[in-house]
Amino acid sequence: PPIISVQQLTKTYGNGFEALKGVDLDIERGEILALLGPNGAGKTTLISIVCGIVNPTGGKVLVDGHDVVKDFRRTRSLIGLVPQELTTDQFETVWNTVSFSRGVYGKKPNPALIEKILRELSLWKKKDNMLRELSGGMKRRVLIAKALSHEPEVLFLDEPTAGVDVSLRRDMWEVVKRLREEGVTIILTTHYIEEAEEIADRVGVINGGKLLLLQEKTALMKQF
Ligand code: ADP
Ligand code: ADP
Repeated sequence: PPIISVQQLTKTYGNGFEALKGVDLDIERGEILALLGPNGAGKTTLISIVCGIVNPTGGKVLVDGHDVVKDFRRTRSLIGLVPQELTTDQFETVWNTVSFSRGVYGKKPNPALIEKILRELSLWKKKDNMLRELSGGMKRRVLIAKALSHEPEVLFLDEPTAGVDVSLRRDMWEVVKRLREEGVTIILTTHYIEEAEEIADRVGVINGGKLLLLQEKTALMKQF
C-alpha cells in the first residue's frame, strides 16, 4: 500500500476561496516526489493537510493507513515538515531546539543522532548559540534539523531552495541523498522545473487547486 494516499481532497478556506478542488494522489514508500506549481497553486495547503495542521473540507488523507484527521498524533509522528517560514522560539539554543523537537514526538533522547544531524547541516559549531543570533540561512538549517530529529518516515520540504544560498542547497541535497538511501519518502514543492528534474522520481504539477499531471520525471521532461 502507498505510504500516503490522498483521496478526493478539497479545501475551501473561511473566506470562500477554493484552494484545493479534488486532489487524488498516491505516494509510494521511498519515492521522491516534486510538486511543481506557481505561487498560489495550492501546494502549501496540500502539504499542510497531509501533515494534519490544516483540516480538509472534503475527502481524506491516509498516512501509513491512518487517517490524518482522526489519528493526528500517530500520523504526525511519521512525518517531518520543513516549513517555508521560520517559526521557532528565538530565545532557545540550537541544540535545545532540535533535541526538544524530538521529545515532542515522544521519542527518547538520542544525543548521538542530534549531533549527526547538526554536523551534516553545518550547525555543530552553532549548537550553543541562540536562534536569534543566527542568520536567516542558519535558521533554515535549524528547521531542517528539527524536521529530522524524530527520524520521520516521510519528509516534506516546502519550497526548500527559495532564497537559499549555494552551500545550504548543497548540504540539503546531501541530506536528501542520505534519507533516500535510508528509504525515507520525500515530498518537496518548488516552482523550478530544473529542481524537480534534478532530484525527483516523479513530478506532480498543481495549478488552481488541481493536480493536472503526475508522471515519471523523464516523461515530463520530454514535453518541455
Ligand atoms: P480557515 O479558518 O478558513 O481555515 P484561517 O484560520 O487559516 O482560515 O485564516 C482565517 C482568514 O485569514 C482566512 O479566511 C483568510 O481571510 C485570511 N488568510 C489567512 N492566510 C491567508 C492567505 N495565505 N491568503 C489569503 N487569505 C488568508
Ligand atoms: P502555494 O503553496 O502553491 O503557493 P497555497 O496553498 O499557499 O499555495 O495557497 C493557495 C491559495 O489559497 C492562495 O491563493 C492563498 O492565498 C490561499 N490561501 C492560503 N491560506 C489561506 C487562508 N488561510 N485563507 C484564505 N486563503 C488562503
